Amino acid sequence: MPMLHGCAFPGCSTFTLSTYCVEHELLVRAVKESERGHVVTHHEVTAAADTALSAETALTAAAPDSAV
Ligand SMILES: [Zn+2]
Repeated sequence: MPMLHGCAFPGCSTFTLSTYCVEHELLVRAVKESERGHVVTHHEVTAAADTALSAETALTAAAPDSAV
């Protein structure tokens, strides 16, 4: 029987059956595909997550303004 465990991504405590939660699984896969033939470092994955988070924050911050 598979065991639930925390996502391997630093700072993420989402429980998952695979190495990463769905969100980070997609993120890691996207980084790997964009860097084909190149070993993705932990720093690069973290940087990609940072970019995604910043974009999300910007969208969230812009939402109230566009609603008014
Ligand atoms: Zn995660």
